[in-house]
Amino acid sequence: MSKTKIQELSDLVLDGQALTREQGLVLAHWDEGRLEELLDGADAIRRRHFGRAVRFCSIVSGKTGGCSEDCAWCAQSGRHRTHIPERTVRTDLDEIVRSARQSADNRAACFCIVNSGRRPTQADLEQLAAIQARLAGERLAPACASLGELDDATAARLAGLGVRRYNHNLETSRGYYARVVSTHGYDDRLATLRAARKAGLELCCGGIFGLGERWEDRVDLALTLRDEVRPHIVPLNFLHPIAGTRLADRPRLGSAECLKIIALFRFLLPRTDLKVAGGRAVNLGAAQRDMFRAGATSCIVGNLLTTCGPTPEEDRRMVADLGLELVERFS
Ligand code: SF4
Repeated sequence: MSKTKIQELSDLVLDGQALTREQGLVLAHWDEGRLEELLDGADAIRRRHFGRAVRFCSIVSGKTGGCSEDCAWCAQSGRHRTHIPERTVRTDLDEIVRSARQSADNRAACFCIVNSGRRPTQADLEQLAAIQARLAGERLAPACASLGELDDATAARLAGLGVRRYNHNLETSRGYYARVVSTHGYDDRLATLRAARKAGLELCCGGIFGLGERWEDRVDLALTLRDEVRPHIVPLNFLHPIAGTRLADRPRLGSAECLKIIALFRFLLPRTDLKVAGGRAVNLGAAQRDMFRAGATSCIVGNLLTTCGPTPEEDRRMVADLGLELVERFS
């Protein structure tokens, strides 16, 4: 029997070849009615490079709301009138440490402090230093961070504070970006990623889908990540439209579209940890069980920044039921 196009592409990836943009577009425009073939191909690639291993990661907000920026999807932008307070609210240190303990109990492999705002302030850095000191005192692993734009000096300071990995997303393709963010540019984001890498920080960098972007934009984002950024982890967020934001009326993505996006990224970034992050429950629903078969290798466990997901117990049960194994690090 002759091979299907998906089998051909999956064999190329398994042979170590990097797919072209044109081949990415074949995957992107694959008929959702034949989704199973795409998922089988993505699953074979995931199993080749990661076996049964999957990771959990958890996040906590260190500072919420009042952001100067205008990211169209974000409930924390001070330009949006949402359920998030307009002014910035800093999270109490004890609460952050409690979340870190919970994260360890939930067997999350990393714990990330996420702040609203364009770039870290002096107070943000002092808060992070206090957090790291408290975590060290409790023999907990140092936190990762997502604090916005970095210059070389600030990135080096974070490395000195024990931050191992820095999250800063590109969010979408260069071509679509200006439609959803006007207050800072794509090149600003790339400059931050370069500064973080130069300081020795591992990169966690991905995007958000469902903003109105085309499949071409999704392919272009994946290729920019693969060829320019080369992050350790690619978080995949799916828009959860929030009342009061500029994208409040966007329709939610269907579960098949989300699975296709995950599979597309697995084919284009075969060896990269793909983390399903925001909007998982609301967009994937019962199909969350299929996210690993689509190629995901990790997910955020516990509460998200402005929305809730499944409980950690439900996620642990799902992983066990699927015959997968929770790990701290991929070998
Ligand atoms: S910079 Fe971050 S916190 Fe501010 S609006 Fe954009 S996504 Fe939201």
